[in-house]
Amino acid sequence: MPSIPCPKCKTQITFNVKDILDGKAYNCMTCNIKITLSYKDNETALSQATKQLDKLKDELGIK
Ligand SMILES: [Zn+2]
Repeated sequence: MPSIPCPKCKTQITFNVKDILDGKAYNCMTCNIKITLSYKDNETALSQATKQLDKLKDELGIK
């Protein structure tokens, strides 16, 4: 699972690329701030995460 550090406490927050594309918000488990990831703002990180996911699927033989 891809993750990002919380902007406040740096706890790693795992996210699901599909949820980001759906515009879902996340809460930090440690300090409980709400984080909304914008696909546009995080396009580079998200496209890398998607590529890694595709690579993993290829390795596992998932279509
Ligand atoms: Zn936090």
